[in-house]
Amino acid sequence: MCNIIRTAIDGPVGAGKSTIARECARRLGFIYIDTGALYRAIGVFCNENSIDVHDDKATAEFIASGAINIELRFINKEQRVFVNNSDYTEKIRTPDASMLASRVSANPEVRAFLLELQRSFARDNSVIMDGRDIGTVVLPDAEIKIFLTADPEERAKRRYDELIEKGVSADYETVLADLNKRDYDDSHRANAPLKQADDAILVNTTGNTFEQSVERIVKIINEKLNK
Ligand code: C5P
Repeated sequence: MCNIIRTAIDGPVGAGKSTIARECARRLGFIYIDTGALYRAIGVFCNENSIDVHDDKATAEFIASGAINIELRFINKEQRVFVNNSDYTEKIRTPDASMLASRVSANPEVRAFLLELQRSFARDNSVIMDGRDIGTVVLPDAEIKIFLTADPEERAKRRYDELIEKGVSADYETVLADLNKRDYDDSHRANAPLKQADDAILVNTTGNTFEQSVERIVKIINEKLNK
């Protein structure tokens, strides 16, 4: 029986990674880490400081200057992301922040900056970590790897519903187009592209309820825990 179980969940936009992973972690008593929040916080912070995120060199220099101190804090077991001691958790959840995150995530210096931070969370704790490159780059020796996906139209509908529920104005066709663009960019970047690790289990949640998706993943993890 293993003591620490590190579960990597990767997949495209809107596959339900964060909501499903958060609930699985809660049921299993693991720590849930949403790595997308780190890229979002960097994108938003660069933008606030008038750094053009399309300019990789300027973004890299800004990071190298020590201007960004990024931290994850766990408050009531919920992850919050702080930049220079300011809480960015809510403001990184807009469609603009998604696009900024996707852009900075293609910058190798940004990925290098975040790599050790992400690994440090999984060193002493059982975690479920979600992202795009967790099973391939961040935790290549994770005990469990899941590649979570669903059809693009269903993913866009879920993302659209989430935005509306939060009171963010949205239009389904724009959500679908943004999602397809982010997935394309994430899968085609040179550095740590989104792809299923060779040893990852593919879980396609199209047509599944939230509860069914959670149960499928908890079952996979429990099987590993009981080995
Ligand atoms: O998962 P989320 O939608 O919050 O991620 C925002 C963006 O951050 C993604 O579109 C992707 O470009 C980037 N990302 C990444 N690697 C991760 C997590 C997120 O490149 N591990």
